[in-house]
Amino acid sequence: MKRHLGIGMTSSRTRERLIKRLQENGISDPRVLDVMRNLPRHIFVDEALASRAYEDTALPIGSGQTISQPYIVARMTEVLMANQPDKVLEVGTGCGYQTAVLASLVNKVYSIERISALHSKARKNLNELRIGNAQLKLGDGYQGWPVHAPFDGILLTAAPVEVPQALLAQLADGGCLVAPVGDAGGQSLLAITRNGEHFEQQELELVSFVPMLTGTKT
Ligand code: SAH
Repeated sequence: MKRHLGIGMTSSRTRERLIKRLQENGISDPRVLDVMRNLPRHIFVDEALASRAYEDTALPIGSGQTISQPYIVARMTEVLMANQPDKVLEVGTGCGYQTAVLASLVNKVYSIERISALHSKARKNLNELRIGNAQLKLGDGYQGWPVHAPFDGILLTAAPVEVPQALLAQLADGGCLVAPVGDAGGQSLLAITRNGEHFEQQELELVSFVPMLTGTKT
């Protein structure tokens, strides 16, 4: 392990406390809980914040972005996993934590990040954990990743004001797109299921994500 942390930070007791909290907040899929119990979240944050990695809170990851709160990661993953997806697209790789959770559960993950520094950081983190079934790209998630479409599941970790049409078009029939949608005034977590050319939308809860922006940043 690259970081030599005090035993308290990484101990199974500390992680178990987080899992218990997720369960108390309604997360029940044992696959999701198992993955989050075993995946080291402290690898994904700066050393100075590693002692807080198993708190149920968002933390800064640089470039003005945050690693999502574990509860939100668990909730979105649980909703996405209900359809047993094989191939998933993530928009907003960030530090790669959500990518790693997904990669532990599905066959293949494609993830797009618009900020070069974070894209590189995520690559390093996933390599360190020897996660080989996640393919990362520096790009604008509004375009999706057409050559690998259709996706059985699509997950956005940044909030657009409206669900991008290009992403709905890349969703497989029967697939589910999970996304925070809204602006600074308020966002809702939506689950949209495709049934042929019909899209069924379910509103899950109110959330607060960084905005989904256009273009890339080097
Ligand atoms: N899943 C990440 C969350 C990072 S925050 C994690 O666990 O660390 C959301 C990320 O979405 C940010 O890194 C931000 O740069 C990225 N983002 C915002 N708009 C984007 C876009 N259009 N395409 C790709 N990534 C985008």
